[in-house]
Amino acid sequence: MTLQIPFDNSYAALPEGFFTRINPKPVAAPRLIHFNEALARDLGIEADASDPALAEMLAGNRIPDGADPLAQAYAGHQFGGFSPQLGDGRANLLGEVIDASGRRRDIQLKGSGPTPYSRMGDGRAWLGPVLREYVVSEAMHALGVPTTRALAAVETGEKVFRETGALPGAVLTRVADSHIRVGTFQFFLARRDLDRLRALFDYTRARHYPQAETPGEMLAGVIGRQARLIALWEGLGFIHGVMNTDNTTLSGETIDYGPCAYMDRYHPQTVFSSIDAQGRYSYANQAHVIVWNIAQLATCLVPLTPDQDLAVEEFTKLVHDMPALIAKYRSEVFARKIGLSAAQDGDDALVDDLLALMQQDGADFTNTFRSLGDGAPRDQFTDRDAFDAWHARWQARLKHETDPEAVMRAANPYVIPRNHRIEQMIAAARDGDYAPFDRLMTALASPYETRDEFADLTRPPLPEERVQQTFCGT
Ligand code: AMP
Ligand code: MG
Repeated sequence: MTLQIPFDNSYAALPEGFFTRINPKPVAAPRLIHFNEALARDLGIEADASDPALAEMLAGNRIPDGADPLAQAYAGHQFGGFSPQLGDGRANLLGEVIDASGRRRDIQLKGSGPTPYSRMGDGRAWLGPVLREYVVSEAMHALGVPTTRALAAVETGEKVFRETGALPGAVLTRVADSHIRVGTFQFFLARRDLDRLRALFDYTRARHYPQAETPGEMLAGVIGRQARLIALWEGLGFIHGVMNTDNTTLSGETIDYGPCAYMDRYHPQTVFSSIDAQGRYSYANQAHVIVWNIAQLATCLVPLTPDQDLAVEEFTKLVHDMPALIAKYRSEVFARKIGLSAAQDGDDALVDDLLALMQQDGADFTNTFRSLGDGAPRDQFTDRDAFDAWHARWQARLKHETDPEAVMRAANPYVIPRNHRIEQMIAAARDGDYAPFDRLMTALASPYETRDEFADLTRPPLPEERVQQTFCGT
């Protein structure tokens, strides 16, 4: 028993044109970095982490029984420009399992070699982004945000070549509710392939929105999940960095952690990605961009309706109402962050005035909110008079709450994966030292718990530690 995955594959049964069957390309010297035992148990996967053959399977050198490896086809708007042909250029879906709660989950290798969709790419990933995705996706899960998960990471023993030179290669085993993206729908619409577009709708509806009966009802479902997702990101100061339509899931999970980051100092225009000079995917713009992405999905669903004029009217209304829905979720998320169990009229102003002060003073996003319930928030500000005035208004509002500290401790994490810690962790791993990785994983497994032994991980970066950009050289 090296690795037993109880596969139950359904995507592989979709018609020709949805994917290309292809095996991962073997690598020179697989070595296991990490195996997520708890997640494996949820998925009904049995593995022997002490058996060297496990790394071989997780690197794609050996195919587990029941797998049916394939690369999925999709398209997508990247930074607003449409690419009709993207697809898994460096990933193989091995298949699906039904987890302990009855949910169908994809098991995918990422960085596992070239496919017909690789275009100019090498089909590989280097260690840095693999570890970043591992840590950040698992942290997101512990923080309560819908996300793809990380089941395993292996080193390949091969070099990959990026702008900065030769780097160690790695493969991530990713678990997702599915890998269906807005771009998957766009792939078939761009080809005017209505039969496959309908087959994709039927499949997605059955898998993710079984209660929806029409394209419009499914669209409303996706809007609800994505609106909540964006509000949850905002509540953590999270910037995805590459919100292209191929990185927007139908399941409502966060996917494709590339040049992403959690803000240290609060500023709504913060951008991290080195390729996002326009600020298209800045922190505050995410709530606008998701609406744009959902409008692309709506466009794909119109041809599937019996009365397309009526559908355009209905879908337009759904899309136009999305900003208000995001705002509603955001109000709830931020109300809890200042200790309010439910948002009332006037609470948005209280939150926004605090954020304005934080922006003015360059206050640390995570620590300022955490300190409201669990510290000395005044210390986070330079304009103390302004903070005191806000504090008085806040205290007056809190009189109506029963246990605001408990609400805040559950809404404001003590520790998040700060960008400079991730960079330091990656630098250590490149030297063969995985202690910082293990320590980050331990700390981030319970992010809402105050634990003094991890106090150093809560410290904002020193000027020389500050990471200005994360690069797309993934
Ligand atoms: P991403 O920016 O990671 O979401 O990827 C966008 C597209 O580029 C997807 O189709 C990826 O499969 C593809 N891609 C990214 N990196 C590589 C690579 N190293 N080799 C082949 N394809 C890649
Ligand atoms: Mg992507």
